[in-house]
Amino acid sequence: MTTFNDFGLHADINRALAAKDYTTPTPIQTQAIPPLMKGRDLCGIAQTGTGKTAGFSLPSIHHLLTYPHRPTPRGCRMLVLAPTRELAAQIAQSCRDYGRFTKLSVSTVFGGVPINKQIRDLSNGVDILVATPGRLLDLIDQRALRLDDVEIFVLDEADQMMDMGFIHSLRRIAKLLPSRRQNLFFSATMPKEIAHLAEQFLNDPVTVSVTPAATTVEKISQFATFVEQKEKQALLHSIVASEDIDRALIFTRTKHGADRVVRHLAGAGIKAMAIHGNKSQSQRTHALQAFRSGDIKLLVATDIAARGIDVSGVSHVINFEIPNVPEQYVHRIGRTARAGAEGKAISFIAPDERPYMRDIERVTRSKSEPMPLPENFNEMVRNLPKPVAGPRDTGSQGRDPNRQRQEANRGRNGGKPQGERGPRRDGAAGEGAEGQRKRRFRPRNKSVGAHKGVVKRVG
Ligand code: AMP
Repeated sequence: MTTFNDFGLHADINRALAAKDYTTPTPIQTQAIPPLMKGRDLCGIAQTGTGKTAGFSLPSIHHLLTYPHRPTPRGCRMLVLAPTRELAAQIAQSCRDYGRFTKLSVSTVFGGVPINKQIRDLSNGVDILVATPGRLLDLIDQRALRLDDVEIFVLDEADQMMDMGFIHSLRRIAKLLPSRRQNLFFSATMPKEIAHLAEQFLNDPVTVSVTPAATTVEKISQFATFVEQKEKQALLHSIVASEDIDRALIFTRTKHGADRVVRHLAGAGIKAMAIHGNKSQSQRTHALQAFRSGDIKLLVATDIAARGIDVSGVSHVINFEIPNVPEQYVHRIGRTARAGAEGKAISFIAPDERPYMRDIERVTRSKSEPMPLPENFNEMVRNLPKPVAGPRDTGSQGRDPNRQRQEANRGRNGGKPQGERGPRRDGAAGEGAEGQRKRRFRPRNKSVGAHKGVVKRVG
């Protein structure tokens, strides 16, 4: 069996791995690290949770240590692009962890926080820069950053980048990179358009794949319950009361929906927080910290906000609403069963969501076990506590002033994708994929009959 010592990584990296108690490389690490150490380009088909961050950062840190030199002012030696702030922060933290016995500098830049500190951080140059595309281009436009000295370029979660409308930003960034560089490209799925994007970035790459595209993560028990949309909240309360939950991620389709679920839970005295694109950066960080530390057991999230979140010990993923893109389902349930632990995914299927669930089962080649509605469910629905009061639009509540200023300034931003920066000007939701989905989502069929108490095998 391969061990980390077999890779010939720099001693300071091996020390950091020992400190983190990593003994055995994950499959993506075993496949990716050797060719990356030789300087090859790499196309990785892997989801978050597979250990891909170490897969790309360990050999990159090794390169930076093997060929030491100071980064040029306002430059960076390694650039990692990630679609969301959370993922960018997480990758930067991993790089800091793996490089903790070295003097390498790591910086993060993303929207929603003041730009001036980021400009200051970059002034002397950094070894590793982890960025979201919109803020990266803002910094380049302000001449606070240049990319002509990038030695290693990593594009992470490419499929999500495309979903969020970052394609033009990526093309612009590609033109600013030097031609001589090592390229690493990661995506959880590899449909044709992503493969085409990969071709534009990669030069004779090695391709590694750890989970065939859109295959349901093993070790996750999947359950499904048919329930009317308006009765889902009661079902959620019942599951929270009856299941042995360590930590549960609850997915809704919209930001308002996420807030509504939290207010309803609060009405029943159940603590939960929401994480989505209308929350300020500090609210998102606070919610994640509370979830990580165990202060709250329930985190209600939209797809984009939850993407890439790495929290260990998520015992349950609850699909309060079913995604209409099957890959999104794979990403959602992939938040549980991490690092070999077992997890449970429970889907609440309203009548008009059945076609989505059928698509999901076809793509993932899996079937969910039917989960009966609780016996006294009608009573639970009748006695559902009222939600605590709250504004319908959290976008106007508790927003950080910097973000508001940014949005006010948007006119000057030249129409860049708004993935990490709030509402899009084209009227779609702030988080790109949610916006796209909103446009594609079919209206609910109000005339479909009730399914109260009916439990059927999905498919
Ligand atoms: P990633 O897919 O990079 O987000 O990693 C998922 C989780 O696995 C993170 O919490 C890592 O710290 C952890 N991890 C990555 N590689 C290893 C390894 N070889 N042994 C144990 N844990 C790991």
